[in-house]
Amino acid sequence: MVPFISILSPQFPENECHPALFLDRDDTLMVNCPYLCEPSKVALFPGATEGLRAFRNAGYRLIVVSNQSGLGRGYFTREQLSAVTNRLVELLAAGGVALDAIYYCPHTPDENCNCRKPRTGLIEVACRDFAIDLAKSWMVGDKAADMELAANAHLRAAQFLPKEDSPLLSGAECAVRSLADLASRILA
Ligand SMILES: [Mg+2]
Ligand SMILES: [Zn+2]
Repeated sequence: MVPFISILSPQFPENECHPALFLDRDDTLMVNCPYLCEPSKVALFPGATEGLRAFRNAGYRLIVVSNQSGLGRGYFTREQLSAVTNRLVELLAAGGVALDAIYYCPHTPDENCNCRKPRTGLIEVACRDFAIDLAKSWMVGDKAADMELAANAHLRAAQFLPKEDSPLLSGAECAVRSLADLASRILA
């Protein structure tokens, strides 16, 4: 199996170099339900669309990179994952945000693939699809694997930390409460 890719609506010509905001999906962009396969349960975090609009206006590509081992484990099908993705895209669109692309690793940890975060395969595929200024790009996520991915791919790292009591992860340059908070920190 190769990464599960959705190229959505690129906002800039693909050969025009732009920084990217790479986004973890679960517990960063949307509230995590483990192995979610029910589109009606998709919910964005407060500040998500506001923050993403600010990054877009600043010339960033918006690219989701997410481990979805539930596919490889057989907990949900590609069709169910697509239905969840479509609902996410719909909620973002209602807030005036279009993602450039979504890259999912479908593998289980045992498969030892190159695309399960913190390995860099998903970023490499994104860099084949789009001209990306990696040195100016950020990875935002809630897990250690997201911070390690940033280090492995030479991206800047921000930790999504919506709750006060969560631990700070090593490798994070900053911790933010929302994507709106991230925009005001990075784009200020
Ligand atoms: Mg996450
Ligand atoms: Zn993979």
